[in-house]
Amino acid sequence: MNVRVRFAPAPTGLLHIGNARTALFNYLFARKEKGTFILRIEDTDVERSTDASIEAILQDLQWLGIFWEEGPDIGGPHGPYRQSQRLSLYHGYAEQLFTQGIAYKCFCTPERLESLRKEQLAKGRMPRYDGKCRNLTRSESLKIESEGIRPVLRFHVDRGMVAFEDLVHGRMSFDSNGIGDFIIVRSDGVASYNFACVVDDHLMNISHVIRGDDHLSNTPRQILIHRALGWQPPLFAHHPLILGPDRSPLSKRHGATAVSQYREEGFLPEALLNYLLLLGWNAPSREEILPIERILELFSLSSLSRNASTHSRKKLEWINSQYIRKTEIDQFTRLLLPYFEKAEIQTKALDPQYLTQICSILKENLSLLSQVDEYLGIFFDEKFAFEKEAKDILVHLENREILQKVLSAIGDWFESNGDSISSLLRQLEEKTGRKGKSLYALLRAGMTGKMKGPELVKIIPLLGKERIVKRLKMALELS
Ligand code: GLU
Repeated sequence: MNVRVRFAPAPTGLLHIGNARTALFNYLFARKEKGTFILRIEDTDVERSTDASIEAILQDLQWLGIFWEEGPDIGGPHGPYRQSQRLSLYHGYAEQLFTQGIAYKCFCTPERLESLRKEQLAKGRMPRYDGKCRNLTRSESLKIESEGIRPVLRFHVDRGMVAFEDLVHGRMSFDSNGIGDFIIVRSDGVASYNFACVVDDHLMNISHVIRGDDHLSNTPRQILIHRALGWQPPLFAHHPLILGPDRSPLSKRHGATAVSQYREEGFLPEALLNYLLLLGWNAPSREEILPIERILELFSLSSLSRNASTHSRKKLEWINSQYIRKTEIDQFTRLLLPYFEKAEIQTKALDPQYLTQICSILKENLSLLSQVDEYLGIFFDEKFAFEKEAKDILVHLENREILQKVLSAIGDWFESNGDSISSLLRQLEEKTGRKGKSLYALLRAGMTGKMKGPELVKIIPLLGKERIVKRLKMALELS
């Protein structure tokens, strides 16, 4: 089978990580099967769709490393790839269903539909259209239309079961009685999502529809349209959604949901992809850090979990930290530059070697790039300040005495062209009578103004005598 899959976002906002995950599954499946991955923009909701959103979605996908072979920007043999440019195509097929008597014009007002809905709910029934306009004669229809009322086109759903084999969930079957005659063309003449989607999936030769569980209830409708037009429906695979900690679908109230927010915070695209994959899938070997090449070796649609997974920021940060550790130093330095610039650090004026040294220390400490802000005070005097907690321990009388001893010992050590830092730390232990953690916390507070940060053995040589002495003197003046 010639595998052709599509990612079909509605450009009504930023790319949600849940949608990015759908795109990823489609992309992986296409690459794995040597098929084609298509990007289709579903912008029939004219009021809510924007060009800016299309632009942002394309950029986010590219940043993630998800590339398409056919799409709105590059075209392809089945274009155009924006639904708003395909409206006349949908009309042709709507006309066909109307002529065949499978679709009919419905003139019911929104008010009538609303009160019908309420009535059905009050009786404990599932709300659905009651078929009032189904049997209007042609002349009745024309008469109402001539009064200026614009109809919607509804698809006539016969009673029966609609079943399909879902590649994730197995056999699914729906009673069409629960569906009711649904709209395929709205009163403004624009095709509904379900209709446009079916026409496009068919005309674009889509072999597999891979999308979120939130679309499961659309699938029987889409299958009915395919059949009515005499087409073979594609295969379907519905993957579970990402949930927030309260087990409801992940949304803004749970925190960041947009790919671009994660990018700005300094998550690496490879890490985000790796994380999104693990949310619905486990490597048979239980590996957790899986670069895309490894994923491609192991991934299959049937191995996707049927159960929804809960978003874990902690896990995402851990995966990101692993990718940061693996990034080669020059590349990592390049990635950090925008964050330095944002903090107004003049990186161009810095000794490149000093910059590389800072970055290689940070590489071991950051779990996301924007955390660099927390460490700037260590490396740049203009950002240096004593944090409250550090101040609190530095002003202790007993600690001051120790600090005084450190000050002279460290000066001597630098003077005598000190040997290894570990020997310095040993000397400091001897001279101060303090050991381990309590000494190190004091050193850290005095030299960096902070209680946490990269290892002292790395920081001391980088800061050098002058700066350390200056900072320790400042610490001694704190009150
Ligand atoms: N435009 C739909 C969405 O963004 C696509 C659903 C589908 O893949 O059929 O959810």
